[in-house]
Parts: sequence; C-alpha cells; structure tokens
Amino acid sequence: MRVAFNVGDFLRRAVEVYPDRPAVVDEPGVPGSFGTITYRQLDARARGLALALEAMGVGVGERVAIVSPNAARFQTAFFGVSAYGRVLVPINYRLNAEEIGYIVGHSGASVLLVDPESDAALRSVGAAHRIVLDGDHDAELWAEAPPGHHPREWDGGEDDTASINYTSGTTARPKGVQLTHRNCWVNAVTFGWHVGVSEQDVFMHTLPMFHCNGWGMPYAVTAMGCRQVVVRRIDGEEILRRMEEHDVSLLCAAPAVVNAILDAADVRAARAQYVPGASVVRLVVAGAPPPSRTIERVETDLGWEFIQIYGLTETSPLLTINRAPVVWDDNPPLTKARLQSRAGVPALGVRIRTASDGEVLARSNHVFAGYWQQPEETAKAVVDGWFHTGDEGYVDPDGYLVISDRKKDVIITGGENVSSVEVEDCLYQHPAVAEAAVIGVPDEKWGETVKALVVARPGVAFDEAGIIAFCRDRLAHFKCPTSVELVESLPRTATGKLQKFKLRQRYWDTQPRRTR
Ligand code: AMP
Repeated sequence: MRVAFNVGDFLRRAVEVYPDRPAVVDEPGVPGSFGTITYRQLDARARGLALALEAMGVGVGERVAIVSPNAARFQTAFFGVSAYGRVLVPINYRLNAEEIGYIVGHSGASVLLVDPESDAALRSVGAAHRIVLDGDHDAELWAEAPPGHHPREWDGGEDDTASINYTSGTTARPKGVQLTHRNCWVNAVTFGWHVGVSEQDVFMHTLPMFHCNGWGMPYAVTAMGCRQVVVRRIDGEEILRRMEEHDVSLLCAAPAVVNAILDAADVRAARAQYVPGASVVRLVVAGAPPPSRTIERVETDLGWEFIQIYGLTETSPLLTINRAPVVWDDNPPLTKARLQSRAGVPALGVRIRTASDGEVLARSNHVFAGYWQQPEETAKAVVDGWFHTGDEGYVDPDGYLVISDRKKDVIITGGENVSSVEVEDCLYQHPAVAEAAVIGVPDEKWGETVKALVVARPGVAFDEAGIIAFCRDRLAHFKCPTSVELVESLPRTATGKLQKFKLRQRYWDTQPRRTR
C-alpha cells in the first residue's frame, strides 16, 4: 500500500492523540494574538483557514505568501494552506519592499498575508487578495471551523509542492525552492527522530518560521503534541525568561542567536540569577558554522546539550547531524567542542560525498523538486542525481563531514587554500573578539591575503598585533590574518549568515576576484 505523504498528517495525529493539550502559546501583547490554543483549536483554525481560502476562490495549487515574524498564524498556515493543496510561500520579513515584491510576483501568489508591522513599508506590494494580519482584517481567515465542517478533501500527490521557500540570495535574485509534501514529511520525521522529539518536549520557536519552514521542526513537534512557545523577536534575556516560564526543552537557532543567549546568561550569572535548562535543554544549531568556543560555552556555562545540523533550504534542510556520542565526554571541553564543531554524519537516508574540487554533494528523499520556474538553475544544482551544495568540505576518517567554507569564500593565498571558517573559529577563542569575519583581500605578492574584520567585546582592549600573534600560535602561518580591522558590526542576512561579498566589495572594487 502506498499512502501519499501530506504535511497535514502531523496535525491530524496531534488532534487525534492530544486534542486538549496546549499546542501554541502565541506571542503576548501583539494585535490579534491567539493566546494559548489547544491542538483541537489549532486544527479547527487550520480547517477554518482552508475553508476561507476556498470561499475566496483560491484554488488548489495557488500560492499563498506570508510575510510575518513567528506567530501562531504562521504555524496555522503551515497546515491550513499546504495540507489542503495550496502552496505556502513564506517570505523573510526583513527583506525590503523591492525584494518582497519580486518574490510575490515571481511566485505568482494570489494571496499575500502581511504582518501589521510590515504593512506600511510594503504598501507597493500587492496581490489579488492582500490581507493585513492585525486580528481585524484577517479575522475570517482564522475563525475556527465548526466541528464537522471540513474543507474539500484534497487528493493530491506527495510530490506536489507544499511550499516555495525563497533562498536568502546574496548577489543574485532569490530562487524559489519547491519543497514537496514528501520532502517536508521525510525531513521532519528524520529530524524529529535524530533529535529525539517526544511528547514531553516543550519547543520554543526561536528560529524564523520563514527559514526553510523552521527547518521542518514545526511539523515534527506538532506530530508529538509538544507545547510550542512562539518568540516573535530575538532578545537573549527574553528568551531565557520565557524558557524558564514554560519549561522549554528544545529550541533551534543560528549561531548569532546562540551568542545573544550566552550574553544574556552572562548577565544573569553576574547577578547570581538562575539560568534555566541545565541538563534538560537541547539546542539545535545550523545556518552558519558555529565557533567551537560558542559550543563549549553552551555545554559548560549553560549545561545544555549542543546539537549541530547542516543543510540548505534546497535539502529541506537536514543533511548531517552532530550529536555528541557519550565517549566524547572523556575529552576536555574545548577538545570535545572541536569534535562537535564539525557538521556531522549523514542523517538517516542521506548520502554525502565530496567532488574532486571539494564541493559537498548530497542525495536524499528530502532534496527539493527544483527551483520554481527556473529549470536551467535546477539543472545546474542537481547533476547526475547529486545535489551540489556550493559548500566546500571534507569527510574526516571517523565519517564526520567538515564544512570548510562556502565555495565562493575560500581564500587562495600563494596557491594555498585557506578556510575562512577555520580562521574565524580561532579568532573566536580570543577574549577580545565578539564577532569575526575573515575574507581574502588583494595582495601583490600572494594574489590574496587573509584579512580579519572583528567586532570587539566591550571593555576588552583591541590589539591588532596581539590577535595576529594569537592566531600564529594556533594555526599554520599562511592561514593567519595579515591584518585585523576593528568594525562596529558585520553584515548578516536575516538568517544569520555573514554577507562576505559585502565586506569584500571595498577591497575588490577595481579588480576581479579569482574564485574556484
Ligand atoms: P540556507 O539555504 O539559507 O539555509 O543556507 C544554507 C547554507 O548555510 C549552507 O549552504 C551553508 O553554507 C550554511 N550552513 C548551514 N548549516 C551550516 C553548518 N552547520 N555549518 C556551516 N555552514 C552551514
């Protein structure tokens, strides 16, 4: 027997098994907050949304775009839109009007749902149905369907598209990654299993839901009936406060968010105030390489379990996972953290290999269906059944994948390749460094030379020569920065990725940069 996978299966199980459990604790104090709703109510609202879309004449296969920070509405839309055959287009709310307008136009969305805080800035962006999520204009969308009222059954296939997620895009236009029901389903189940999601977990939505559907965790935790706490914006202390309030046991975050949490925990520790979660919390990190010093602090200062995953929007995203085996506990903390700083071993059903030029290639059931209306881009990304990640890396003898860099960010100095990630990891161990980005800049002798841009820790003196000497004690000399510049902040995407092309611009304006 073959029963088509549908992302609606996750909610269906929750409402059958845990109807009266609190499902989503929405952000308090925002217009139209759902407050706390049970799984029965989440299901009724998801059906209500599908019925409302039906009444608006939005047909199966049509795109419904949403521009919103994390919210119970967003979580409802994962099911109310996709489970009934329409296609959700989650859009990064920090993009500008021109970029969002491009995505809405390119996806051909007939419905655009806009958070009230983005409404004014997005006045120029329209769709056949443009609805502001202020609890007033959108009230009908989220009304609970009465018991027994079901939207039209959708008998679509598992290879139909559940969502189109536009990639962050650096220099080029974002591309629409089509994730099928099968992609989302297999990713969520595999991810949930590797992380050990259980009905006892309380999950906190610190990861933006627009980012690859929150890495698929919103589906996984729903199936297990977990309580889900919505966090609308990132603030380290607020995260700790609400973790304490709700006994949170599981969260996902990019490394920059982890640093915000660690800083807030430092402030609490200095006041001898309780920091929640020791020996209970699992923190899943991805999106950019986590420095080993950050990993060490999560495990020693907070007492939380650090789990790293690696993947891309195109891979739904789970490709590899690094969850420390018990034997690694025999190592000193920094040595253990170094082992954990590797991307990990392939998740169940994923195959990884590296091409002759070092590019990481992957195969799995949750690699995407293709870029929306860009077959030529799809053909460049998937060659002979292998997805080309654009990342460079290698597999250690114990089977762990190491991501050494984005292909475009590898520095070539005097013919030697330098992993900017490795140099950044070393810089993060220096007490004066709060944030670091390492780039290649033009050099007459070496072609490129290594430059570090550093945000200093408040109250610690910045000493360029001292930082260079620190690196030279720890790294091969050709990898060490030849200059270190102090900067106020580093440009990042909304998902925490360093935008190194922006940093490089200043230095490469007048000459082309050689890349591999
Ligand atoms: P996105 O599709 O926006 O999620 O970006 C995917 C990219 O993020 C990958 O190609 C990597 O460059 C980077 N990335 C994700 N997870 C990791 C990780 N654990 N370590 C290093 N880089 C990562």
